[in-house]
Amino acid sequence: MNFAFTEEQKEIRKTIIDFARRDLNPGIVERDRLGVFPRELWKKCAEMRIFAIPFPESLGGDGFDFVTAVAAFHALGYACKDSGLVHSMATQIICGIQLQLFGNKEQVSQILPDLVSGKLIYAQAITEPGSGSDAFAMQTFASKTDGGYILNGTKTMISNGPVADRALVFAVTDRAKKTLGGISCFLVSKGDAGFSAGKPMEKMGLRTLTNGELSFSDCYIPESSIVGREGQGAILFGEAMEWERTLIPACLLGELERVLEECVQYAKDRKAFGQPIGDFQAISHKIAMMKVNAELGRLALYNAAYLKSQRKRAALETSTAKLFISESLKQACMDAVQIRGGYGYMVEYEVERDLRDSIASTIYSGTSEMQANIIARIAGL
Ligand SMILES: Cc1cc2nc3c(=O)[nH]c(=O)nc-3n(C[C@H](O)[C@H](O)[C@H](O)COP(=O)(O)OP(=O)(O)OC[C@H]3O[C@@H](n4cnc5c(N)ncnc54)[C@H](O)[C@@H]3O)c2cc1C
Repeated sequence: MNFAFTEEQKEIRKTIIDFARRDLNPGIVERDRLGVFPRELWKKCAEMRIFAIPFPESLGGDGFDFVTAVAAFHALGYACKDSGLVHSMATQIICGIQLQLFGNKEQVSQILPDLVSGKLIYAQAITEPGSGSDAFAMQTFASKTDGGYILNGTKTMISNGPVADRALVFAVTDRAKKTLGGISCFLVSKGDAGFSAGKPMEKMGLRTLTNGELSFSDCYIPESSIVGREGQGAILFGEAMEWERTLIPACLLGELERVLEECVQYAKDRKAFGQPIGDFQAISHKIAMMKVNAELGRLALYNAAYLKSQRKRAALETSTAKLFISESLKQACMDAVQIRGGYGYMVEYEVERDLRDSIASTIYSGTSEMQANIIARIAGL
C-alpha cells in the first residue's frame, strides 16, 4: 500500500491551497455573519476547474481519478476557511458522480457537462420533515402517468436547495415494495411546474452553505428524467452515500489538520506562568490526540478513496472514515476553543466558527449513530 501523494497530486494540492488562501478566505467572518451563499466565489471555483476534477475529458472534465479528487478536497478543507462553500462544492461533485454512474446517455452527455463546468448548481434531496435517518420512510410519492410521473411531497434541509438549478430527488414509486424496488431517483430542474424551493434555513454553522425545503405539488417529470431504472433508488442512494462519505470526510480531515497546526502555533506563542502553554501536559496531550486522529483519519480516508476509485463497494470503510473523522474534528474544535481560553470564544479569532461548522459533520450524510449502526451490522450484529 502506498499512501503517498503523486507529484501531480502534490501540484494540484498546492495550487488549491494557494487559491483558497488568496481568493476564498478574505471576508469569511462577515460572510459567516450574514449567512449568504457566495455565488462569486462559486464562479471562481468553477474557473479553477474544481468541479471538473473527477469527470472525464469527454464531458468537459479533467479526467483525474477519485483518489486525486479526494486529495484535492482534502487540500480545500485544509486551506479554505469557508467550510460552507467547501460543503456546497462537495455536494455538486456527489450529484455528478450519481449522474455519471446511473444516468442515461442523454443525462450523461447533455446534462452532466453543465454540472462539471459549475454553470448549474446541484442538490440532492432525500431528507423529509418526517424522515431523516430512516430515509426510506420518505413520503414523497411519484405516481406513474402518461410518459412520466407526477411528484408530490416535501424535502427539507437540502444543501444548495435554495440556490440549486437542478436536484436529484428521491421518491417512492411503489408503496408496496418501498425500499426494495419501491424508491426511484428523479432529476428535477428549476422552473419545472409544481417545483419550488424555500428560503435558506438559518443555521448554527456552515452559514455560507444554503439549506432549505424543496416542495413538489403535482410536478410533472418526464420518463427521460428518471435517474437509473424505476425502483433502483435505494441502490443509487447506497452508492451515493459511499462516495459522499469519502469526499466529505476529505474536507473534514483537511480542516482538522488546519485546526491542529493553528493550535500548535498558539500553544507555542501564548505564555502563562512564565512558559508557553504548550509546555503544560494538559495542553500538549490535547494536541497529541489531534495529531493521532489526523494520522489515523488519513489512513481510513485514503483506504476508502482507493476502494471507491476501483469502483468497489465500501460501506464499512466509508462509514468508518465518516464516523472517525467527523467525531475527531468536532473534538479537535472543542479543544481548540479551550486551548485559546477566552479568545477561543471570540468571533474575531475564528475558532468558534470552526466549532459551529464541525457540529453538523456528525449529523449530515448519516449521523454518527447511523454510521455506528452500519459498522455494527457489518461486524456481525
Ligand atoms: C448541514 C446539513 C446539511 C444537510 N444536507 C442534506 C442534503 O443535502 N440532502 C438531504 O437529503 N439531507 C440533508 N441534511 C439532512 C440530514 O441528512 C439529516 O439531518 C440526518 O440524516 C438526520 O436526520 P434527522 O435530522 O431527521 O434526525 P433523526 O433521524 O430524527 O435523528 C434524531 C436522533 O436520533 C438518532 N437516531 C435515529 N435513528 C436511530 C437509530 N436507528 N439508531 C440510533 N440512533 C438513531 C439520530 O442519530 C439522531 O441523534 C442535512 C443536514 C444538515 C444539518
